[in-house]
Amino acid sequence: MHSDVRPQRIAEESAPGDREIAQAFAALAAAAPLSPIEIERRSPRPNDVAIAIAYCGVCHSDLHAARGEWPGMMCPMVPGHEIVGRVTSVGSKVTAFQPGDLVGVGCMVDSCRKCSSCGEGAENYCESEQGYLQTYNGYVKGGDRNTYGGYSTAITVDERFVLAIRHPESQLAAVAPLLCAGVTTWSPLRYWNAGPGRRVGVVGIGGLGHMAVKLARALGAHVVGFTTSESKRDAILALGAHEVVLTSGERGLDGYEQSLDLILDTVGSPHDLDVYLSLLKRDGTLVLVGVPDAPHPSPSAVNLILGRRSIAGSLIGGLKETQEMLDFCAENGIVSEIEQIAIQDIDELFDRMIKGDVKYRFVIDLSTI
Ligand SMILES: [Zn+2]
Ligand SMILES: [Zn+2]
Repeated sequence: MHSDVRPQRIAEESAPGDREIAQAFAALAAAAPLSPIEIERRSPRPNDVAIAIAYCGVCHSDLHAARGEWPGMMCPMVPGHEIVGRVTSVGSKVTAFQPGDLVGVGCMVDSCRKCSSCGEGAENYCESEQGYLQTYNGYVKGGDRNTYGGYSTAITVDERFVLAIRHPESQLAAVAPLLCAGVTTWSPLRYWNAGPGRRVGVVGIGGLGHMAVKLARALGAHVVGFTTSESKRDAILALGAHEVVLTSGERGLDGYEQSLDLILDTVGSPHDLDVYLSLLKRDGTLVLVGVPDAPHPSPSAVNLILGRRSIAGSLIGGLKETQEMLDFCAENGIVSEIEQIAIQDIDELFDRMIKGDVKYRFVIDLSTI
């Protein structure tokens, strides 16, 4: 899972203007279950888009943040950064969107817009002191609150941070997880050139991993899924993997040494990276997108030196590549595999996520609020 572990601060919040009330579910303390509250959303400024939220995906980050497992928790905390819905109104200067449009909002709602990363469309790596502004639990300096996420009925976001959705409306709920899980895997697949003639491994077939399998396959790569559970084999093949390797099996990884160009490792707990490094070809890269709660055991330098291999990391994706991913998915009929849920069940479902009992993403239907 990707992680927004730093408390976020941003210096450029204008004075609060008119506000509208939205319904939401929030953590009021680290140990408390989520409960219903009313929150204020700003009325659109000239560059803003006001959105009625239809669905919001449930990311592992939401669970860790809402339960106070990461530093910098600000309460009330309304989680949710896989947001899809319909535009209800736009500010006077907005040209890219109009009321009625289907749109999405991901992990960011603002950034400094001045640093070189922002200039290159890599807002996710904003170099300002405060980094990008998180969709939820972001500290708004000069405002009277932190940012609130998508476990709510409405949100107002600057048009630069709003994505166009071109999937049919009937797929809207299953599009929501593309806004985090989709782009978190798309960005490294693109950066490290997953495509025809390339062999790509995916470790951990959950919310992120199942999207990695679908996207790598659609990009034309040969996809190898790694799992600890034989019972998942058929499901992973059905997602689009060409091969499934049981890491806990008797044969283990025999025969797969030096066979892959790229491995996407989505596992969010400490594990032995050498197991996967040894599967990379010369110049291959192991990309980590999961943030473990304790460090991985240090990998062997020999495994890196022999074969000029790399270990890298990747954090979500910028706005431009998020839009490219959404358009690619719309053109190729790709959505997430989801279980649609009522918001009142969220704490019970967090517990199921901890056990890995989800195929592959829960998505909240906000009409249940
Ligand atoms: Zn997320
Ligand atoms: Zn920046």
